[in-house]
Formats: sequence, C-alpha cells, structure tokens
Amino acid sequence: MTITRRLFLKNSALGLALYGLDRLPLPEAGYYSAEDFAKVPKIDTHFHLDVPNNAFPDLALSMKFHLVSVNVDAGFPLKEQFEVVKTMKQRYPGQMDFLGTFPVDKFGQKSFIKDTIAYIDTNLQAGALGFKVWKNIGMVLKNDQGRFVMIDDPALAPIFSYLEKKGVPVMGHLGEPKNCWLPENEITLPADKRYYTRHPEYHMYKHPEAPTYEQQIMARRNLLNRHPRLKYVGTHLASLEWSVEEIALDLDRYPRMMVDVAARMDHLQYQSAQDKDRVRRFLIRYQDRVMYGSDTTIDHQNSESKATLDILLKKWKTDWAYLATDSLIIEKLKVGDKEMQVSGLKLPREVMDKIYRKNARQFFGIK
Ligand SMILES: [Zn+2]
Repeated sequence: MTITRRLFLKNSALGLALYGLDRLPLPEAGYYSAEDFAKVPKIDTHFHLDVPNNAFPDLALSMKFHLVSVNVDAGFPLKEQFEVVKTMKQRYPGQMDFLGTFPVDKFGQKSFIKDTIAYIDTNLQAGALGFKVWKNIGMVLKNDQGRFVMIDDPALAPIFSYLEKKGVPVMGHLGEPKNCWLPENEITLPADKRYYTRHPEYHMYKHPEAPTYEQQIMARRNLLNRHPRLKYVGTHLASLEWSVEEIALDLDRYPRMMVDVAARMDHLQYQSAQDKDRVRRFLIRYQDRVMYGSDTTIDHQNSESKATLDILLKKWKTDWAYLATDSLIIEKLKVGDKEMQVSGLKLPREVMDKIYRKNARQFFGIK
C-alpha cells in the first residue's frame, strides 16, 4: 500500500490533531472494556442446557459465546440429557459442544466397566468432547460393604486409564467448597449458605460419617498421581476455591491439570476484596491453566421465563467486567457481619483471551 500524505497524517500525532481525533479517548490497547464483551469470541465451558430450547444458544451466539453443555450424573435421566445435548449440537453445528457423563449406579456389578466404556464410546461417537464426574462419587455412592466410593477407588481405575489412553478430557466436580464442612454460621459466602440450607443432604458438616474435605482433595490427587497423562480440569476451582495460593500449589503439583471458575467467581471476589493484587497475580501467573465457565442451568423450571435470559446475560457481563475492567462490581458483598466492596481485576487482553477462549480451544480441542 502506498503511504499517502493523507494516511501518514492520519497515523501521526500531527495527523490526529489535524483530524480532531486527539480529543477522542483512544482505546486502551492492552485491556478490554465492558463493551468489548459482546465483540470478543468466548467459550462458556460449563453450561447445563437441559432442555432443547433455542433461546439460550441464540443469546450465546449473539454475544459470541460458544457453549459447552455438560451432562451430570444427577437430576433427570442420563439418556434424556444425552439426547438433548446431541440434538443441540446438531442444531448448532460448530457453535455448541457437550461433555458426556456415565452412570455409576451399577458400580460393583460384573459388567460395570464394560458397560461404562461402551457408554463412553457411544458419547464419543456422538461428538462428546470429554466426560464429567460428579460429587456423587465421594459423597453418595457406596460399595457393597457400605463404604463411600472415592474417585481413586481401584474399581474405577480402568475407566480413567481408558480416557487417559485416548486423550479424552475429564471434568471433575469432586468434593465441595470448604464451606460445605463448616457449621452454617461459619460459612463465608451467602451463595454457599443458601445452597446448603436448601440442600442439607450435601451439607457435609451435618454428615460426619461421610469423608472429610481433606479426603476428597486427597482422592483427586491420587487419581492424578495414578493417571499422570489424564487431561483433567478441576471444575469449581478444583474445590480449592477458598485460597488462590492452594490452587496455585496444586497447579504446580499437577502440571497438566486445568481449573475452571464456574460458580466460584464469588470466592475469587471475596479474596480480591481483601487483596486485589493477590487474585490478579494468581490469574496472570496461571493464565494458561484457567478457563471460564458460568455453571448456568437451563431446565424445565426456568427455560420459559424471559427473566432467565436477563439473569444469564447479566451474569456473563458482570463476570466479564470483573475480570476485564477495574470498575466497581459489587457495592456490598456481605460476608458474616462484614460488607466488602468488589472492584474488577483489569486483566490484560492476552490473559482474557486465554481464560475466555484459547485455553478451552486447546484443552477440549474446540475448533
Ligand atoms: Zn455444573
């Protein structure tokens, strides 16, 4: 291209002044703004679209979000969950993906491993990017001696060896936030308090017979020790949400492990409200290991309400503003009798691109 005088002027300081552009605020090259949310391609790696409803993927598309819908061994029948994600993947080619899961209700039966691997293969043939394992392993499932089955149980090992050998990603929701083992009045965050009030069956403080928090974390570490090549993402910040330093230690210990922030953004905010630099430094240092996920569930109960779309969009935008900008996000985060202000972390563009897209593309092989 010939550099004309006109173009040269336009690109020089003098040119900016001549064209009156010097009075316009220039975009900050190194950072995204709140408005960039709708323009930047993103992946929500932890979504539960449990009904074949188009409104939510359409909203995602309009906001440049690629959705990964995750099947879970809970709620409604797995066969139906599988049908929904298969249908939606076909309906939105190249714009939606899914993670399968496998049932564990036949655990201990003779054909369990064979049937599970067959079920995994069926999911892979339908395009599953990986598989989720859930907290029912470690908190609900028991063996025939009445003991809790943990994720490192040797009887499950052939399944993980199979996934490891095939290079298939595994998303593990193992254990719970540390708050789950605390009495109600010591639970730090309001969302956790609400959840355990509503679900006393999962409030482990009330179930001292069940494995401890430490046992849950150790079982997951054993799994990764025994399957060092397993592609593993510890969802919900690998249940180490209460301390970015603890997450960092495990990411160092397990160099192939990833984490996602799904449904634990409030724990990052709680820590950054006390020391912003601490959380910011963590995300910059581990920029190749963290993925975005919202953990939104769309089901029969909420899919028909327009408010659900607004709630989802608001959550997506708030999360983006928290990570990308330094604006005020929460005026009063109530923790115990304290009220804290949360402002954004203003992560550099490259870090945002990795957390919101590049890491997931690489880890899950999304094109
Ligand atoms: Zn989830």
